[in-house]
Amino acid sequence: MTAVAALPVVRTVPDLRKRVAAWRTEELRVALVPTMGALHEGHLSLVRQARREADRVVATIFVNPRQFGPSEDFSRYPRREAEDAGLLAGAGTDLLFAPAVEAMYPPGFATTVSVAGISAGLCGAARPGHFDGVATVVAKLLLQALPDVALFGEKDYQQLKVIERMVRDLDIPVAVRGVPTVREPDGLALSSRNAYLTPDERAVAPALHRVLAGIADALAAGRGSAATLTARGKAELEAAGFAKVDYLEVRDAETLVAVETAERPVRVLAAAWLGRARLIDNVPVPSR
Ligand code: AMP
Repeated sequence: MTAVAALPVVRTVPDLRKRVAAWRTEELRVALVPTMGALHEGHLSLVRQARREADRVVATIFVNPRQFGPSEDFSRYPRREAEDAGLLAGAGTDLLFAPAVEAMYPPGFATTVSVAGISAGLCGAARPGHFDGVATVVAKLLLQALPDVALFGEKDYQQLKVIERMVRDLDIPVAVRGVPTVREPDGLALSSRNAYLTPDERAVAPALHRVLAGIADALAAGRGSAATLTARGKAELEAAGFAKVDYLEVRDAETLVAVETAERPVRVLAAAWLGRARLIDNVPVPSR
């Protein structure tokens, strides 16, 4: 075991299990916060919530190659473990699990976890195979750590719903918690990928949240259909400077099935390109 910035770090599954098993014998409640590193306040809010829900918090940093497409940003994804470890320690993390790719996917690895239905559409359509990669790595992390509770951000709303479905379907004995999105003062959702934005793009980026919030308010007030509002919203994003809108849609908040009105809890979700960055965001529609 090595220690970075006073935070114990383990890199193998047996070492992780040893630490968690010791806590279990003391009947301590354990929380898991999976991340890909390059941490910001959004990640740290998961850790702080985890602290409120459990006696011990395990954070993971693993840039999972299986959830990146062949032409995506796996190789240039920001990696800064020492800095991340300091932030995690400051937010109340007890242990960091940071395995190498070979420890997670040793030679001969052959299993994929695939969650049908909810993985299709939205980011699943724009990033084929992405949610198979996410479900596979999260299933592994949950089974490796066997926490009482695992925390995920609503920022990646479809991912949260895929994980909830998988945990129910596979009877994985863990409570999944969604944590609200942490934003910059101008509304931009914090994301490790915001680092890809140039200053000009950064000035345009808050339009994504502004457009989503506008659609949510209009739906809540019964001013316009989902189809009209999202068509107008796409045009607004393009006019603001977004190069391409992968999707801008109104979906049932639980099933992610497309809806036209906000009779049941619904969510407005979008993904759009600004320079080299693909930004995603979503907001709830206040109930009528
Ligand atoms: P990532 O490192 O991007 O895979 O994110 C790790 C976890 O942090 C995921 O559960 C994300 O949904 C969550 N997360 C990322 N950004 C935010 C944010 N701005 N607010 C809250 N949670 C976030």
